[in-house]
Amino acid sequence: MTTATTPSAAATGATRDPIFDELGFPTDPDNLYLQTCGTMLNSAELIDLKHRVRIILAQPKNEIMVHFPVRMDDGHHRLFKGYRIQHNNALGPYKGGFRFHEDVHLDDVKSLAMLMTMKCALVRIPFGGGKGGVKCDPRGLSEGELQRLSRRYCSAIADQIGPDVDIPAPDVGTNAQIMAWFADTYMMSSAGDHHDGLRVVTGKPVEFGGSAGREKATGQGVADVLAEMLPGIGIPVEGMKVSLLGFGNVNGWGGRILQDMGAKIVAVMDHTGGLRNDNGIDCHKLFEHNMKTRGVAGFADADAIGEEDFYRTPVDVFIPGALEQMIKQKQASWLDCKVMAEAANAPCDPSGERELSAKGIEVIPAILANAGGVTVSYFEWLQNKTSQIWDAERVDTELNRHMCVAARRTLATRARYGCDMRTAAFATALEHIGAVYKVRGIFP
Ligand code: NAD
Repeated sequence: MTTATTPSAAATGATRDPIFDELGFPTDPDNLYLQTCGTMLNSAELIDLKHRVRIILAQPKNEIMVHFPVRMDDGHHRLFKGYRIQHNNALGPYKGGFRFHEDVHLDDVKSLAMLMTMKCALVRIPFGGGKGGVKCDPRGLSEGELQRLSRRYCSAIADQIGPDVDIPAPDVGTNAQIMAWFADTYMMSSAGDHHDGLRVVTGKPVEFGGSAGREKATGQGVADVLAEMLPGIGIPVEGMKVSLLGFGNVNGWGGRILQDMGAKIVAVMDHTGGLRNDNGIDCHKLFEHNMKTRGVAGFADADAIGEEDFYRTPVDVFIPGALEQMIKQKQASWLDCKVMAEAANAPCDPSGERELSAKGIEVIPAILANAGGVTVSYFEWLQNKTSQIWDAERVDTELNRHMCVAARRTLATRARYGCDMRTAAFATALEHIGAVYKVRGIFP
């Protein structure tokens, strides 16, 4: 990899893009949507993307907001707020997960939907970008309440989604079981071919149309990208030291896969606390512990550490895999790593990005690093559409090929423009979207 010369907008604190004023955007510098949009527009400027495509991409096509009641176990009803954002479908149906979390907000979901558009374009899968969520605390709900909530959310947006229109998937706080309830609700209520309705959602259980390898796909994709890129900057995967922020689906799998590839996981932190062991934390044992106790705290084979000690642990690669904007200037200033691989979407706020850039930390952006999940979702959708069942080996091979090609594409763009990796990944995605708009034209 060559030394970056053009950092992303957020990394430099660059001035506001004129399109922000043209579209009447607010000025809040920490707003996640403005941060993501600024990154996109910075890359659009670099590749001289047509103005008409820039303004289309600067706002989602559809913003769906729903309110629906759910009967709780004690008999009373609670009203929930849900979103489905459909950002862009120039390349194919909208695609993106939905999350159940207390901090679900419109602008954050819009930002995540835009990232999905970029991610699918970068990996060259025929989907656009979408995202959804329900403001709730799933940990505080019984299984029955969770099921009723999932089914009501599906029915509230059922008219606006579909196997060839918009295809949700799991994200934070949702899982394969919730996808099964979601698919069943859609199939029971849709007017069309009931079996084809299975394709309305991916990340389903394997026995109900899910794909082999979907659960581990995002973590596997992170590992595939690291194995493809790191040797080029003198970090062999064998023996590399890693710290993990978050130990849920993505980092729980990523940690175990990287450990099996020879990496040493020396620090882990989640919402329950931090752990450090310089001889390596056994992620397989930690995964078992996490399943039992719903957190990493209390794991016996590592020392308990606080937030600052976690970030200050010297590592080759830091992998944030928790929520958005957790790494602000303070956390970034503590970091002692050569590379940050974004398993989570938008893990830094603008001040964190600036600090990382000033420290010369190489960032592998989320639209590349965590694209494994949507890639295997595409394989699941393809299998459902063609009534095929791929074995795990075929899924792994195809995933690895998509991730490695996307990584090489990003490196080539970076070398061409002399920019940082985030700018390059967005530029690569935008070149593809721009080429599609050029041949499609803009209706009418
Ligand atoms: P998850 O719900 O399974 O895990 C989230 C993790 O974050 C948990 O370990 C939780 O303890 C931790 N966390 C939450 N709050 C925290 C805090 N304050 N401090 C430290 N840790 C905290 O979610 P996931 O599916 O692993 O997703 C993680 C990230 O990856 C999200 O940004 C998500 O959008 C992104 N992502 C997920 C997928 C996927 O396939 N699941 C795909 C692409 C991107």
